[in-house]
Amino acid sequence: MESILVTGGCGFIGSNFIKYFLNKYEYAKIVNLDKLTYAGNSSNLEEINTSNYTFVHGDICDSNLVKSLFKKYEFSRLVNFAAESHVDRSIDGPADFINTNVVGTLNLLEQARHYFDSIKSHSEFKFIHISTDEVYGSLGQKGSFSENSPFKPNSPYSASKASSDHLVNSWYKTFGLPILITNCSNNYGPYQFPEKLIPLTIINCLEGRSLPVYGDGENIRDWLYVEDHCRAIDLIMKNGVIGNTYNIGGLSEMKNIYVVKKICSTLDKISPNKDGTSYSKLITFVKDRPGHDRRYSVSIEKIQKQMSWSPDESFDSGIEKTINWYLNNKSWWRSLKGEYDQQRLGVIKE
Ligand code: NAD
Repeated sequence: MESILVTGGCGFIGSNFIKYFLNKYEYAKIVNLDKLTYAGNSSNLEEINTSNYTFVHGDICDSNLVKSLFKKYEFSRLVNFAAESHVDRSIDGPADFINTNVVGTLNLLEQARHYFDSIKSHSEFKFIHISTDEVYGSLGQKGSFSENSPFKPNSPYSASKASSDHLVNSWYKTFGLPILITNCSNNYGPYQFPEKLIPLTIINCLEGRSLPVYGDGENIRDWLYVEDHCRAIDLIMKNGVIGNTYNIGGLSEMKNIYVVKKICSTLDKISPNKDGTSYSKLITFVKDRPGHDRRYSVSIEKIQKQMSWSPDESFDSGIEKTINWYLNNKSWWRSLKGEYDQQRLGVIKE
């Protein structure tokens, strides 16, 4: 039976991944180590009803804790989602990003290395590190990042993720730790914390608040439905070539303003304003964010060729599912109200 340490499993992607994995593999055992920062919410996983799931409240920077978990559960996989993940917060306070994303990853690597050295003669282990396309920096109008593109991170968030990717790679080259890295584009779907562009836009529409958009709204992001991301990670865990990096993307590049307008027009149809006006009247352009990357785009040729993976969900179908989820789960986001109220009243973030 596979025993997996998932870090950051109470966040957006981690909680979707744990549910995806336990649904698909009924014998898998998952231990979820999460610090429960503002972005972590254990209620994301309350529907899980199996003794194969264990939650541990703790910090990936805590070496004694991580060491004791390896000893107790003898993991065959570690999937590292734990991170500070919000670019705007990294501009306001970079230190937490260096601590969790860099020092925390270093601690996981060190504990994994010592554990792997003790079991490698008779057992296998893989360290899967979840990262972002933002490590590659910003693109012009054309082209896409491949796995060989140089790192040129522009925000404290992307710089901290790029640092962690370099560390993970070097633990493979120097110490022979079996690693895999994924660099994924923007995710969206159920359980995303309401400070991010898509949930913030949906919720602000429903509450009749303004929809502030950075700069001219022409910044381009590629959007991937979170379940497609989970499916890609599952495949990479099984079939990825050790020591390799895989880009994951949604083949859905869109301007931010298009995404906001799409949410407005979808809500106009499925949950119209009582006075008949469009939600788009709430759109407000505001001063741009410093270091705001203009365009991201990743080539998914490698994962397509090696694992026949491509996204199942189109943006049209995924955004409709996502909007319906936020409409049907108002109590989930209302319970987080205090946590994100300041962001909700501020600027829309990707
Ligand atoms: P999130 O902010 O929703 O969740 C992060 C989780 O990590 C939270 O549950 C939080 O409590 C936990 N955490 C934070 N610091 C911790 C620590 N020191 N110890 C233990 N747990 C800690 O993030 P997300 O959107 O789910 O992203 C998950 C991963 O995927 C991140 O590494 C992020 O860089 C990467 N990623 C995200 C996206 C995206 O669009 N959301 C895209 C590509 C890559």
